[in-house]
Amino acid sequence: MEHSEPTEQADGGSALNGHFDRTGKRPVPGGSGCASAAASAGAPQPPRAEPGAPRPVMESWREERTRSVEDNQTSLPSLAAAYTTILRGLGEDPQRQGLLKTPWRAATAMQFFTKGYQEKIIDVLNDAIFDEDHDEMVIVKDIDMFSMCEHHLVPIFGRVHIGYLPNKRVLGLSKLARIVEIYSRRLQVQERLTKQIAVAITEALKPTGVGVVIEATHMCMVMRGVQKMNSKTVTSTMLGVFREDPKTRDEFLALIRS
Ligand SMILES: [Zn+2]
Repeated sequence: MEHSEPTEQADGGSALNGHFDRTGKRPVPGGSGCASAAASAGAPQPPRAEPGAPRPVMESWREERTRSVEDNQTSLPSLAAAYTTILRGLGEDPQRQGLLKTPWRAATAMQFFTKGYQEKIIDVLNDAIFDEDHDEMVIVKDIDMFSMCEHHLVPIFGRVHIGYLPNKRVLGLSKLARIVEIYSRRLQVQERLTKQIAVAITEALKPTGVGVVIEATHMCMVMRGVQKMNSKTVTSTMLGVFREDPKTRDEFLALIRS
């Protein structure tokens, strides 16, 4: 794994967020990242979120609403029409040969990129939780992750590392990757994705502890602004003994780096 120790880079930033005891993304020097996207000067400002009606950041995975395959079929024409509008807005001619089918292709692709809305975590966990007297750390690392930044609708991709310390219950190993898949195939920010994975495992297994680390590249960072080609964002969520016991946390971090 191409994981590196926290090192100073040319831009003066750190390759890691430097602390693993809470979810957090390191600040982006120069403000090229998502968080400061709305602050670019000169551009019309997007509508502000309505105060007084905050949506909870963490929706419980037990109460998820899903998008059905029928919903996809129903919404495809309007989604494609929206892409035609985008093409015109970009100064393109949607009638030229190469673009004739682009709105439909793009709409279908976007539905695929967000297919995590079609699935529920609880359906994945059904029949995959086993009683087991195993109490050693379980780690699955280098799970490929492809997501979409909810601020710019461009890809976020990287790797997810998950560890947990079972408490009489274990989860089928492939299901950890399925949890990553479902949450990542939605519009996301990396911090929330990290936490959602950790919380779902915690609620499903009631383990002694859970650690989730995500290393990811945000296309909205590398393609725009100062174009930091190799910048990676590292986020982590540590729960239970992973949060409270430095030895357990260090063991996890050493194992995902090995
Ligand atoms: Zn973004």
